[in-house]
Amino acid sequence: MNRIYYKSTRGNEKKVQSSEAILQGIAEDGGLFVPCETPKVEIDLNKLSKMNYKEVAYFVMSKFFTDFTEDELKSCINRAYDSKFDTEEIAPLTKVNDEFFLELYHGPTLAFKDMALSILPHLMTTSAKKLNLNKEIVILTATSGDTGKAALEGFTNIDGIKIVVFFPEQGVSQVQKYQMVTHKGNNTYVVAIKGNFDDAQSGVKEIFADNEFKEILEKNQYMFSSANSINIGRLIPQIVYYFYAYINLYKNNEIKEKEDINVVVPTGNFGNILAAYYAKQMGLPINKLLCASNDNKVLHDFIDTGIYDKNREFITTISPSMDILISSNLERLLYSLSRGNSLEINKLMKELKQNGKYKIEEDMKKSFQDFYGNHASEKETKDAIRKVYEESKYLIDTHTAVAYVVNEKYKKQQKDLRKTVIVSTASPYKFTNSVMNSIDDCYSDLDDFTLLEKMSELLNEEIPKNIKDLNKREVIHTVICEKNEMDNCIKKLLEIK
Ligand SMILES: *Cc1c(COP(=O)(O)O)cnc(C)c1O
Repeated sequence: MNRIYYKSTRGNEKKVQSSEAILQGIAEDGGLFVPCETPKVEIDLNKLSKMNYKEVAYFVMSKFFTDFTEDELKSCINRAYDSKFDTEEIAPLTKVNDEFFLELYHGPTLAFKDMALSILPHLMTTSAKKLNLNKEIVILTATSGDTGKAALEGFTNIDGIKIVVFFPEQGVSQVQKYQMVTHKGNNTYVVAIKGNFDDAQSGVKEIFADNEFKEILEKNQYMFSSANSINIGRLIPQIVYYFYAYINLYKNNEIKEKEDINVVVPTGNFGNILAAYYAKQMGLPINKLLCASNDNKVLHDFIDTGIYDKNREFITTISPSMDILISSNLERLLYSLSRGNSLEINKLMKELKQNGKYKIEEDMKKSFQDFYGNHASEKETKDAIRKVYEESKYLIDTHTAVAYVVNEKYKKQQKDLRKTVIVSTASPYKFTNSVMNSIDDCYSDLDDFTLLEKMSELLNEEIPKNIKDLNKREVIHTVICEKNEMDNCIKKLLEIK
């Protein structure tokens, strides 16, 4: 089999194996690891149709993690996609009227981050063993709400790893916050930041690039790594469900062999949609990748104009996991679109850092044709939740609703009749307030936790067990930190100097 190596988007020529890239998280020059080539696969649907989720996962991931043995990778997969998920299908594709919702929220924290964060810890410990690492790994994570809990869930009580999660104090839903601050586990730290997600993410990236800090860590037998989608070990597992969705469409006689589909992805950090792009590069018949933004529509503007400009007001919306102005994974796409021109990437990223803005060249813009960008306003998002519920008694969350709206806009504009997979990134139970108030004003005075019960009555089903009684659990994590004090905060938590 073809060996795949990884290198930085910023030009450091050193090639590493996947295990090294996973352990490091981010490249030494501050760039992101990308595969030196995208493995092409043959899509034999008769064969693939017989596979369950884990088998499809092996089929896809073994093409990228070529330094893992079959046993190693299968063991990671088996430990990840087990009864933590509330359905054996893992990522069910649900047809509602003529739409297909790819439900990625059946894992322990009810959001799509579980798809990758249930396997990342196992990939990491396996990598550490393979490379005879003798240091303890400290995972630093910035979260817009969902990554934090999913990472805590994945890394808790894993030997040789500690995890620190930074979340924006005012930027997450009540359920999201409680999920994190009540989390138990003696290797876990949760810290509220006085700032927004971009502050948290930039702070973490700066700490990764701080050589002095790196030395202090080494003296103390620690090393940093990342559980954000800047880690390639999070990105690759996300490719799997695009294959799985396509296979299911075929199995259900919704498409013929080789028939093109579209996918619409509610986007923040650009990780999920980038995985879809990688799936397309591998040979999966995807026509358009619809990039759906909320009112923080930097990506919509970028796809239309070729100008990325984060100099704008940060808007707090009802889809908080997408309240992001700096989409880290876009760097990987730009690298790919520029055919690996790391000089250009360095230039653009420097401009972004200095001026908060950059513009790409015409020929790079041309290669953007795989993508379509649009956004949904708050009102459109709420209207979509109500419409889908009234028409079919199917409840979607606010993030999924953003994708739904953008798909409607696309269909209207482009008259494209292809089947579209709507990527459903969170359970409505995670955003009860916004979801319930979208379908009826009568819920406006009730808090998130009362609304959990109302929602379960409405849908005539049990409250998912992982968030039941959440507000009755003990608050364990109470540290709050200024956004420019994150490094000192880490030193205190780890008791290092
Ligand atoms: C993280 C998240 C997103 C955005 O995904 P990216 O990979 O960051 O683009 C969308 N919806 C939900 C519910 C999320 O948790």
